[in-house]
Amino acid sequence: MILILTPAATDEQKAEARRALRRDGCSLKEIEVGNREVWEVKESPGQDLSHLGTLPGVERVVASAVGFKLAARDNHPEDTIVHVGDVPVGGGRLVVIAGPCAIESREQALTIAEAVKRCGAVLFRGGAFKPRSSPYSFQGMEEEGLRILAEVREVTGLRTVSEITSPDQAELMLAYVDVLQIGARNMQNFELLKCVGRLDKPVLLKRGLSATIEEWLMSAEYILSEGNRQVILCERGIRTFEPYTRNTLDLSAIPVVKRLTHLPILIDPSHATGIREKVAPMARAAIAAGADGLEIEVHNEPEKALSDGPQSLFPEQFGQLMRDLHVIAPVVGKQLDFDYLEKARAVAQAAPSAAAASLPVALVGEAGTFSHKACTQYFGSEVAIVSARSYRQVFEAVAEGRARFGLVPLENSLTGSVHENYDLLLSFDLKIVGEILLRLEYALLGRPGTKLEQLRRVLSHPEVFRQCQEFLTAQQWELVATQDEVTAVRQLKEKGDPAAAAIASRETAAAHGLEVLQQGIEANPRNYTRFAVVGAAPWSKEPRRKSSLILQTPNRPGALHDVLGLFAQNNVNLVKLESRPIHGTPWEYLFYVDLEADAESEAFRPVLEALRERTDLLVVLGAY
Ligand code: PEP
Ligand code: MN
Repeated sequence: MILILTPAATDEQKAEARRALRRDGCSLKEIEVGNREVWEVKESPGQDLSHLGTLPGVERVVASAVGFKLAARDNHPEDTIVHVGDVPVGGGRLVVIAGPCAIESREQALTIAEAVKRCGAVLFRGGAFKPRSSPYSFQGMEEEGLRILAEVREVTGLRTVSEITSPDQAELMLAYVDVLQIGARNMQNFELLKCVGRLDKPVLLKRGLSATIEEWLMSAEYILSEGNRQVILCERGIRTFEPYTRNTLDLSAIPVVKRLTHLPILIDPSHATGIREKVAPMARAAIAAGADGLEIEVHNEPEKALSDGPQSLFPEQFGQLMRDLHVIAPVVGKQLDFDYLEKARAVAQAAPSAAAASLPVALVGEAGTFSHKACTQYFGSEVAIVSARSYRQVFEAVAEGRARFGLVPLENSLTGSVHENYDLLLSFDLKIVGEILLRLEYALLGRPGTKLEQLRRVLSHPEVFRQCQEFLTAQQWELVATQDEVTAVRQLKEKGDPAAAAIASRETAAAHGLEVLQQGIEANPRNYTRFAVVGAAPWSKEPRRKSSLILQTPNRPGALHDVLGLFAQNNVNLVKLESRPIHGTPWEYLFYVDLEADAESEAFRPVLEALRERTDLLVVLGAY
């Protein structure tokens, strides 16, 4: 068992904890892991020491954590990100692996791969060696199947995932496959684990049918201890007494695993349920529960599938599920990015030196701010960032070529448009080339020991104050504006003012050693900000789904009606229409318009021309 002490544990508290352990007849070894004190305790078999977790100075008791060291989060607090080609698994972007249970033919594999790619899957799965429960069932196409997988990768650009069932297959697998899957039945095949542990390939380790989480992590430890640190966990349902579903999906494994280990965790709702109609609800729940992604079986003709047809989604069902996940992801602080692969490729092209530093993105705010999070969720965590002190500086950095893209907030769901950035879009020759939506949750943070009653002033960005207005108006505090939320946190720490607090994200508290005095203080939990990515040119030539325009209509009856009529006639859906006063010309207005069409495409050109005739000013801010 392991006892983890709080960073602030006093000598007295430690002495008391030692006495308690002695009373319980345990011996202990005191070790330091990072800057943490961690006590390794030897208890008698079956002895329950969980009560020690309530002692002052003890953060928590971890049962038998001695077993997995390399997999343990306590030894590696940051999340591990496993790179599969352009696709980082773990972190802020969801990864969806989709494809058939087994490769059955070239046509089948390519058809399904194209379909799942269109829907936003970033990795393709397909078994070539199938460990079936019955020796009489289809056992997979073996090497021929792997060759087809390699062709799928060639044609679609999707990296591939396939199961390895024996160390003998290692060489073949290395040649054809990007992620080696260890199936549930082989989770404790230690020779196989050691074998993949010696390879330089990401491994997707499924949880065994009847394995405890601890046994599962111990299997991960086998792979890690051989030197391969690229391990992705996958919960796929465990065997219980419930016969209605094929297995019972243990969703509670997600928060447990997240706490115990730094490795990313995916959920396979297909094998977990065995029933097509149960797959989407479990997939949605998995994302809501914090999974890093999913592995899902999809088949174009499930009724003819040679294995696992009843649990395979039709491509249309998979598409609908992905749309739902796209909506759910920001609620839990993640993104499902439909342009993931294309963007990664564009980013790689823009950085021929392969150094991300040649493609910096300018933004206001350092690590811990929501702008920073938006940037890493949009471009990936390796992107280089140019810090700007103002939104104008962001635009200048891009216009002058010091950054290739800029990222600025454009609109908040509680406080409305950020007019400053609309004005900058009008005055600089830059376009919106992308957008990303983030849910913003704020907490009131204080230095350890601060009480709410003693507060006199609060530090944060003025926009944050606006989003927390209801909470703040109930108080009598002085509001001190800072450049961003993290600057507020830093100033709070540096000045040591006991009557001050800062407003920032909850995660900032842990990173800076502050306490959360109150969380969820934004005026409404549905608090989203839409960030725009701006650049001199779009990063893709593909048709885009959405565009933003600014227009001004002549001052005559029916002028706006004419403009709106044009959209109606051309079946263009508007998703935003807002008027705002024009600076220096009182009582005249501009309109911000967002529409679901690519305003820069050839197809849209006639609409744009007709629009130009009906307006005094028309600017396409970008299509994205
Ligand atoms: C599979 O992914 O097709 C498979 C056989 O999964 P599991 O090992 O989880 O049963
Ligand atoms: Mn299967």
